[in-house]
Amino acid sequence: MNKKMENEIPPFISGVFTLPSYDKMAPTMLGGFCKVCNRYYFPKPVYCRTCLEQVELTSVGSEGSIYSYTVIRTKPPLGLPQPYAVGYIDLEESRLRIFCLLDPTAIDQLQVGLPVSLRVGPLGHDGTGASCLRPYFSPRRRN
Ligand SMILES: [Zn+2]
Repeated sequence: MNKKMENEIPPFISGVFTLPSYDKMAPTMLGGFCKVCNRYYFPKPVYCRTCLEQVELTSVGSEGSIYSYTVIRTKPPLGLPQPYAVGYIDLEESRLRIFCLLDPTAIDQLQVGLPVSLRVGPLGHDGTGASCLRPYFSPRRRN
């Protein structure tokens, strides 16, 4: 799929990740940050669970490593490929552990501790059958 078409596909949900950029910046997961407690959250809550101050929207990272994962081989929901994989990613930037889809084209490469990077692309549908963009972590490309 070319970039112009991809840019016309909406995200499956807004405010959780940045879209593929037009300026070559990597996509990033969006969460919350409490300035008082110096604490990150994902997903972003309205208020900090510790001090009840308002939490601001911020990047929580796009690079990390696989803490744990599983491959799901049963009939997938929402038009996801079969099989598909999900896992917990330890993010470097915020040190959060988040649950996310993993690259369905890289299932054979997945292993605990593997360095991964966030990608955003067309994956599955939005529940009505329309294509949508989803975030997923993929084995980090070597430079
Ligand atoms: Zn706080």
